Amino acid sequence: MRAHVVTFGCQMNEYDTHAIQSELAGIGYSFVDSFKEADLVLVNTCAVRGKPVEKVQTLLGELRKEKSQRKHLTIGLMGCLAQLPEGQRMGRRFGVDIMLGPGAITEIVPAIERGKFQSFEFKRELQFYSPPSPTGALSAHLTIMRGCNHRCTYCIVPATRGPEVSRPAEDIINEAVALKEAGVVEVSLLGQNVNSYGLVDGTGSRRARLPRFPSFAELLRMVGRVGIPRVRFITSHPINFDDDVVEAIADTPSVCRFIHLPVQSGSNRTLKRMAREYTREFYLERVRKVRELLPDATISTDFIAGFPGETEEDFEQTLSLYREVRYDMAYMFVYSERESTPAAKHFEDMPRGVKVERLSRLIELSRQISLEQNLKWIGREVEVLIKGPAEEEGFVQGHTRGNHVAVVNGDLAPGIHDVYVAHATPNRLYCAIRATAQSSELKRAQLSSTACEMSFTV
Ligand code: SAM
Ligand code: SF4
Repeated sequence: MRAHVVTFGCQMNEYDTHAIQSELAGIGYSFVDSFKEADLVLVNTCAVRGKPVEKVQTLLGELRKEKSQRKHLTIGLMGCLAQLPEGQRMGRRFGVDIMLGPGAITEIVPAIERGKFQSFEFKRELQFYSPPSPTGALSAHLTIMRGCNHRCTYCIVPATRGPEVSRPAEDIINEAVALKEAGVVEVSLLGQNVNSYGLVDGTGSRRARLPRFPSFAELLRMVGRVGIPRVRFITSHPINFDDDVVEAIADTPSVCRFIHLPVQSGSNRTLKRMAREYTREFYLERVRKVRELLPDATISTDFIAGFPGETEEDFEQTLSLYREVRYDMAYMFVYSERESTPAAKHFEDMPRGVKVERLSRLIELSRQISLEQNLKWIGREVEVLIKGPAEEEGFVQGHTRGNHVAVVNGDLAPGIHDVYVAHATPNRLYCAIRATAQSSELKRAQLSSTACEMSFTV
């Protein structure tokens, strides 16, 4: 039996896909690169913005055509879209056999065995599993919690992933130990809001701790002691990115100095309409704490351009926040209306032209500031986790502890290496194996680089 799995969206979906593939392998499936050769096609979906949903729809159209010629083909829709009425409608329209939202992910094998259209209840206990460690992988994901208790007015995630559920620390540590034994050198702890780990409810000021659960700061220290050389985490909600988390990062050498702290907007008026629970001033105070204890940390963020009702003045506040924080990297999106969210129900979407124009100005600023930030690394030694060949011939590529993409002139084996930064672009550091060598070759590689895209999405 042959399966083909397509994954859209976030790292959590990648983690789920890996777990599902392990389950399928356990019942005799092998994996193929094309749906044309598969008996089972699973589509692990993202519903956060309209674009990934459109992509799923296009793929389902192709799969329906394929199924009309091969009646035995089984199609499964998984992930966030499968949990929503929009996904259920799509599933029916395109003849999907199995619908499995994130709250029933561990039901994959019984679902395939029954093979009929079915919808599973969202159950807290069906969300966690310990997938076997990936063989030969240097990096791995590790889910520490699921769901979200916040109610950002634009966001579909609380509807698709349900309320926050933290995974027992013992299971997390066991999985981290297994990853280390399998040779993993970088682990990313995943959750919608990792700082809510172990809390009864991470929103507002309700910070009561679940019995027998450590805080996220304590968990970071515990994972740090496992001995994996690099520990990362994503994503932090600013409201509970507390001092003790910053201190735990500072005290735990294996925790990478890379802080992803999504802000969404620099305007207090917009933040309030988004129900983000913090102000610009509160956010800047969190950044100040990071700069104080972790002066070399890279800081990245998420922005939404063109949220309903955002005025030119509000947007200028976003640009001014960007200049004030001097982000190293940013993920920038135009606002995408999502069915049934409070923003879709109560606010009017603005013309796409305005949203895209604001996004372009934000990207322009981000390129300029990222370049200035990256130029500061020239001449310094950085640690790079080499993953394999770069697009440029004769170069290898990886990423630093600060999550910069690094292109290295030399034939380094996959793994961790210390190199020297010789040149920089807005989204890459060009590095040499020795401090003095190969500068002209690196300059040539930098100029010929075709991959100068920033991380942004319309
Ligand atoms: N939990 C994280 C937080 O609150 O910071 C973010 C998780 S969310 C899945 C990832 C990013 O998608 C958000 O930070 C936001 O920038 C973006 N996003 C979510 N809903 C969106 C929407 N309706 N339109 C545009 N971008 C959106
Ligand atoms: Fe969505 Fe807000 Fe929850 Fe993040 S915190 S997942 S943006 S509702």
